[in-house]
Amino acid sequence: MTPPPPRKDSETMDAEVREKIHLEILKRTGAYHANDHILLPSGQHTTEYIEKTLVTTEPSFTEGLGAVIAKHFAPWPIDVVVSTGPGALILSHCVARAHPSRPTVLYGTKGVSGGKRRVTLPVEFHRLIQPGTKVLVVEDLVSSGATVRLLTELVESLGGKIVGVGALWRRTKRSDVDGKAIFSLVSRDFPTYAPETCPLCKKGMPLNREFVKRRDERKPSTAEEDDE
Ligand SMILES: [Zn+2]
Repeated sequence: MTPPPPRKDSETMDAEVREKIHLEILKRTGAYHANDHILLPSGQHTTEYIEKTLVTTEPSFTEGLGAVIAKHFAPWPIDVVVSTGPGALILSHCVARAHPSRPTVLYGTKGVSGGKRRVTLPVEFHRLIQPGTKVLVVEDLVSSGATVRLLTELVESLGGKIVGVGALWRRTKRSDVDGKAIFSLVSRDFPTYAPETCPLCKKGMPLNREFVKRRDERKPSTAEEDDE
């Protein structure tokens, strides 16, 4: 009799398969680009790119992905789901809808004051986060983790307790922000190359400048959105 494969392997494989499915879904929204040669705002080149604004444009996909995040956090009671930014808010609604605790949905507002990025919570929401309130933070994309950090600090300043952080996509190798684990459906950073050492340039593949151009067009009002 053949022994069953070690559990760890099958778990790893499941995670890989799941991630592939989620990537496929994101590809169908038109948000995810692969096998390209893309110029980034930093001047670096890459093969993959995700257009944040497009991620939550397909309601049935967002609902499905939100339900996966909700299922992960189902064992923990949650009072409140909190996010900031339009994309994350749409997702957070779907997560809250699918979570057995039926948490309420609150959202912060991003802004800059005194040269520093800040997230504030509309004053009407303040009484909904009290000492001991169990809070799930939801993000669409996590890159630097700056937004997650601002949100968790805000929640904790009101006495709320962070149950976890759920995201569609984690672009950083770090799987936590200040010790708070991030559960993400896709954990993937893109390889980036300096133009001088870029293997795609060496192959003579044409450079796609579309995304930098688009970003420049919407500057400066939303440029800060890009460092999540
Ligand atoms: Zn290149």
